[in-house]
Amino acid sequence: MSLSQLARSICESPTLKLNETAALLRDKGEPVIHLGGGEPKSKCPIDAIVSCASLLQTGEVKYTPADGILSLKKAVIRYTEEHYDRLVAPDNVIISSGAKQSIMVLLHAILDPKEEVIFPVPYWVSYPEMVKLAGGVPIPVTPRDGGFQPTVEEVEEAVGPYTKAIMLNSPNNPSGVVYSDEFIAGVVELCEKRNLYLIMDDTYNRLIFDGRTPTNCYRFSQVRNLELSKLVVVNCVSKMYAMTGFRIGWAVGSKEIVRAMTNIQSQQTSGPAAPSQWAAVGALNGVQSSIESLRLTLENNRNVMMTRLGAFNGVQVVKPGGTFYCFPDFSAYEKDSQKLSRLLLDKVRVVTVPGREFGMEGHLRLSYCGTIKEITEGVERIKWALDPGSPNELYLGDRKLVRDWR
Ligand code: PMP
Repeated sequence: MSLSQLARSICESPTLKLNETAALLRDKGEPVIHLGGGEPKSKCPIDAIVSCASLLQTGEVKYTPADGILSLKKAVIRYTEEHYDRLVAPDNVIISSGAKQSIMVLLHAILDPKEEVIFPVPYWVSYPEMVKLAGGVPIPVTPRDGGFQPTVEEVEEAVGPYTKAIMLNSPNNPSGVVYSDEFIAGVVELCEKRNLYLIMDDTYNRLIFDGRTPTNCYRFSQVRNLELSKLVVVNCVSKMYAMTGFRIGWAVGSKEIVRAMTNIQSQQTSGPAAPSQWAAVGALNGVQSSIESLRLTLENNRNVMMTRLGAFNGVQVVKPGGTFYCFPDFSAYEKDSQKLSRLLLDKVRVVTVPGREFGMEGHLRLSYCGTIKEITEGVERIKWALDPGSPNELYLGDRKLVRDWR
């Protein structure tokens, strides 16, 4: 079979693949603990369901404008005003099928072949592949201090004649780190000085802990007129409202960039599914308490995860300031993260995501979006599998495991 060079250069999403593997094992009755997941356990807000259901009840489920329905754009405009202190127009907003599609059409709209997009390591698994899909070249920047946030100087060193954009995701998937205001301000300034696009992926912006307030990148911009700005902010209902399956995200930017993105989206998928857009209208305009209750649950889960990992000798972990991920360093036990992740799945049925997928070997991404039982038991099983000081036997339900590999 002859596949395109592009198809051959793109890898499958490792996180989606892990979901499938976990589901298959569970179907077979295996006692799998999924610490690889990327979605909250909670139900979506009732306002989303009611709004979606009222459209469905009419039986009139039709195409929508390619850039989304006006009611959702209005809800996004209100959200932008409330959380970013920016008043934007409907033409500054595009609604897409998830934040992923917003980023994808944005990359298609700005990249010429071989132009570069810079992003810090560790990065969301999809960034390199999405940049490649749009014909560009991904340029990951690894922090020299071994941490999870590079310096502005390190980012600037990566800027060259082919650089088109810088992409930031804070709080960060996979590290959970919230980039400092100084760093974000520095990158905004750098982009404005060097005339680069800045893509702010604010997918986890509201899910932050320890009394932090979400960072508003516009605050650092010297360009007051959005039409002259190359800053594009991406958001979605997926994580904050636990609405991953609805597939609704959006981007806010200059009218010119939004128009270009809309043209591409109109040829690619047309407007997002109408019922999903109405669900997002319901969520954004409805009672907002579900975000706070999810945030509190995740903060508590984070604390439990930190306590458990803290009792794990040899594992280094940075306390996440947001998201529902942490990114501990297991290299004292095994430097090859894929090998380690495979071992944990094969031997103790715990799903983790190898750090290599995020550009950092020796680490595993562990999610704490599940239940406390999953977190505590998951870490306990990992500890049992890796720590030579653990007893030789472990019971998974009524199944007795005997450690024969360490
Ligand atoms: N950006 C980041 C950093 C993410 O982690 C995700 C989802 N895992 C997305 C974007 C995509 O979000 P959506 O599901 O709305 O497409």
